[in-house]
Amino acid sequence: MNIPNLLQAQKNFFSSQKTKDISFRKEILKKLQKELIRRESDIIKALYNDFKKPEYEAILTETSIVLGELKMTIKSLNSWAKAKRVLPSLLNFPSSAKIYKEPFGTVLIISPWNYPYQLAFAPLIGAIAAGNTVVLKPSELTPHTTAITKEILEAVFDKKQVAVIEGGVAISTELLAQRWDYIFFTGSVSVGKIIAKAAAEYLTPVTLELGGKSPCVIDESANIKLAAKRIVWGKFVNGGQTCIAPDYLLIHTSVKEDFVQFFKEELEKAYGENPEKSADFPRIINSKNFNRLTSMLSNENFLIGGKTNSEDYYISPTLIDEPSIDSEVMKGEIFGPILPLISYESEEKIDKIISKYDKPLAFYIFSTKNNYAEKMIAKYSFGGGTINDTTVHFVNHRLAFGGVGESGIGGYHGKHTFDTFTHSKGVVKRGNWLDLPIRYAPYTNKLKNLRTLLKWT
Ligand code: NAD
Repeated sequence: MNIPNLLQAQKNFFSSQKTKDISFRKEILKKLQKELIRRESDIIKALYNDFKKPEYEAILTETSIVLGELKMTIKSLNSWAKAKRVLPSLLNFPSSAKIYKEPFGTVLIISPWNYPYQLAFAPLIGAIAAGNTVVLKPSELTPHTTAITKEILEAVFDKKQVAVIEGGVAISTELLAQRWDYIFFTGSVSVGKIIAKAAAEYLTPVTLELGGKSPCVIDESANIKLAAKRIVWGKFVNGGQTCIAPDYLLIHTSVKEDFVQFFKEELEKAYGENPEKSADFPRIINSKNFNRLTSMLSNENFLIGGKTNSEDYYISPTLIDEPSIDSEVMKGEIFGPILPLISYESEEKIDKIISKYDKPLAFYIFSTKNNYAEKMIAKYSFGGGTINDTTVHFVNHRLAFGGVGESGIGGYHGKHTFDTFTHSKGVVKRGNWLDLPIRYAPYTNKLKNLRTLLKWT
């Protein structure tokens, strides 16, 4: 089926009102749940084949998250989808008012390669739960995961409800030329802008989950040993290819030496003396990204790492000492296992560096001074963040996950995903037993009464 025909088939199915039926949605989500559980080991294998993602990380950062979202969605769907009664306005007396939860219609989801399973399925679950139909375009860079995604979705859904379209830029461009009711995109800032432009053609609402240069500040009061351990995990999980990984460190000069020592120890505990031999350290996704990352290593001083192997796109966990602010590694989002460390003595230096970049997706502050941490959280604008750890705000489904400014538009996870794919339709129901004359012309002599009424509302 070509793209316009597929879209038309989905539009027809949506118009049939079938997806508005909550029990239909729940049944199909349960079917999906069964299939995802049944195919879990194949999904894990596919993730390994794509970029040597370790089984443990595949479960922790991909399959368990998707299954958690799905379980919660099935359990909460009745209450999320129910029309909500709200207080009526006195000006409308007598009346009642409700917010109806309405699906947008046909949704396009375009997902990236770095968490190729989770970042495709988490939005998809919410879109289906909200009663939409979905066309999913996964990344072309993870062919094994994309193949299993297709198999799973074809086993559960008819194409008129959910379809997977494989391909790269050309297919994506063709999809974006169609008229969708909602577009959900996860990927880079530059492609995010292409998506926003395409969506503007039909004023299609979008969620853009993008990236950015996420700072990590460590002040002189921080628990340095624990900070080192938590940064090692948050930076090097998935081989550093995580949108919310700390991108660069700003560390108080007085604790730098201790931090580097602890960082070395923690790194060795996690990945051994030679991380290349560790079964727990993934590879860079492709040659393009490998070359992009290795170009950041030239002319830098390494506190740790700096080793590469082009045969299987290996880059060792690397800590760069005091790079120049104009260096390659400090230009854009790193998105790999390279971590620049810059020391500071004054607030001004922190401010100068953070303010140089657009609003990041994440922000991390390690400090035992509560007021200072709170001050930093309030001072800078960012998508979301963590005090005294990295990346873990992602797993609390009560916190909408998303960016701000260049790091994205909108947020999702848990109920927020359902709300993302739902239009809240406000409706007033008027009573017929009384019809106050106040709003009707002629207005002569009514102004005084109007002013009194407005005081009450
Ligand atoms: P990408 O923008 O290159 O690709 C993402 C998707 O867009 C893919 O499906 C790709 O086929 C498609 N695409 C690529 N070029 C296109 C074009 N010109 N026109 C239309 N579609 C196009 O991103 P990526 O390399 O897959 O992922 C890395 C980026 O994603 C990083 O910047 C990272 O920070 C970001 N990211 C963000 C989140 C988040 O939740 N905010 C999560 C993961 C990754």
